[in-house]
Amino acid sequence: MQLPAPRLLIGGDWIDAAERETIPVIDPSTGETFGAIARGKDADVDRAVAAARKALSGLWGAMTAIERGRILHHLSSLIEREADRLAHFEARDVGKPLAQARADVTACARYFEYYGGAADKLHGETIPFQAGYAVLTWYEPHGVTGHIVPWNYPLQIMGRSVAAALAVGNACVVKPGEDASLTALILGELALEAGLPEGVLNIVTGFGEEAGAALAGHPGVNHVSFTGSVEVGALVQQAAGRNVVPVTLELGGKSPQIVFADADLEAALPFLVRASIQNAGQTCSAGSRVLIERPIFDQVATALAERFRALRVGSALSNLDIGPIINQRQRDRIAGIVEEAAQAGAPLLAEGEISPDTPGGGFYVHPALFGPVDPACDLAQREVFGPVLALIPFEGEDEAVRIANGVEYGLVAGIWTRDGGRQLRIARRLRAGQVFVNNFGAAGGVELPFGGVGKSGHGREKGFEGLYGFASLKTVAIKYE
Ligand code: NAD
Repeated sequence: MQLPAPRLLIGGDWIDAAERETIPVIDPSTGETFGAIARGKDADVDRAVAAARKALSGLWGAMTAIERGRILHHLSSLIEREADRLAHFEARDVGKPLAQARADVTACARYFEYYGGAADKLHGETIPFQAGYAVLTWYEPHGVTGHIVPWNYPLQIMGRSVAAALAVGNACVVKPGEDASLTALILGELALEAGLPEGVLNIVTGFGEEAGAALAGHPGVNHVSFTGSVEVGALVQQAAGRNVVPVTLELGGKSPQIVFADADLEAALPFLVRASIQNAGQTCSAGSRVLIERPIFDQVATALAERFRALRVGSALSNLDIGPIINQRQRDRIAGIVEEAAQAGAPLLAEGEISPDTPGGGFYVHPALFGPVDPACDLAQREVFGPVLALIPFEGEDEAVRIANGVEYGLVAGIWTRDGGRQLRIARRLRAGQVFVNNFGAAGGVELPFGGVGKSGHGREKGFEGLYGFASLKTVAIKYE
């Protein structure tokens, strides 16, 4: 399969970075280098922003929403056509099992399909006002939107923010994660083939402190969509704040799943495992804390331990339950957290196995299940971003809500109970952007608005709501008498 060239997409052309430097692409399954991406910096971001600005005053700016929607639909079908290549490179670049990479391709295609369909349905209102006035509102694009994307779900995260921004009529500059940029570049190829005019989608690969920082603080950028860590999110917000432009921050999480004694455990158990280990736990919405009502704590802990012991870790292309961690640094960080938790006295209930034929140089960790864990301890408070699950006992609704809300994050939460009144009571009281009852994650849920409260960020992407963040509302008051 053909690797994308180490180039930047600027103004419809594939070009070398101004300083002609590259960054090696490392396969986390083997630790080996298998390609390179361009190392874009300030000057490249300058060119990309200028190209996007130019596109706004050209063909793209004059296009109707119907035409924009058709291009996005076409792009969606091209993503499906290229599913094998996209899934292969997503799996190798991120280290995710091939089946997960395929699911990510499907979700990415769905974002372009969904927002292609939504493009001509974003409409304003008329507002009753004083006699002799007609007042109406229009949604307009911000202009140039910057998209800073992390490495964990490159296709999905680029899809959700870029498709929505394009549907509204913005021109985009994307800075993919330096650890996994390949599929962003393939999306760039497909966008040109789909008929997106030159300069509407620009891609500048490179390091966060270089290309990312240049994009976040660029005076020519009118909106920044950032997905990543809390620390960098705060820097991006500061940088954009200097230009007084809006920012959407999709940050981390420590999402709880609350299991009451009346829950359907057979239904819950697979979700409790999958939500904590999917993508090797490197998922912002990972259900990394399971709160269990005391009468069933031992029963649930035993059943989860059995499932954790059966988990198999291996290379991305071997397509087992869990792949490697993205890089050596993250692998060591996760291993350190597991070691510290064990030293601090958290009982290690079970570990999964690393498959014996796994390549030696990859960045693997054992999935680990701990419990009972004190809700105040580090393991229960901090985002591990690895396949590590903490079990926490509770008694009654009030304690469940107190523990669930007792972290600085608020991204996603799950409730498992058959009691309809309790489902709604708890859903109301949880501090989270999304609450799932008797399920978790809704298989990605392209249609479902997503985002956080607290340190999980602000603003919403996904669903129809996702369009509003990329639009600026104009009020027009016409005096006709
Ligand atoms: P990160 O914050 O290190 O990097 C994210 C992106 O920001 C990358 O493209 C990086 O190059 C860039 N960046 C780094 N420094 C920068 C700077 N100074 N200025 C501008 N850009 C900079 O995050 P990561 O390690 O790639 O991803 C992991 C984090 O992302 C986790 O905390 C996870 O929870 C979060 N995440 C959140 C969501 C969500 O939707 N809420 C989704 C995925 C990941």
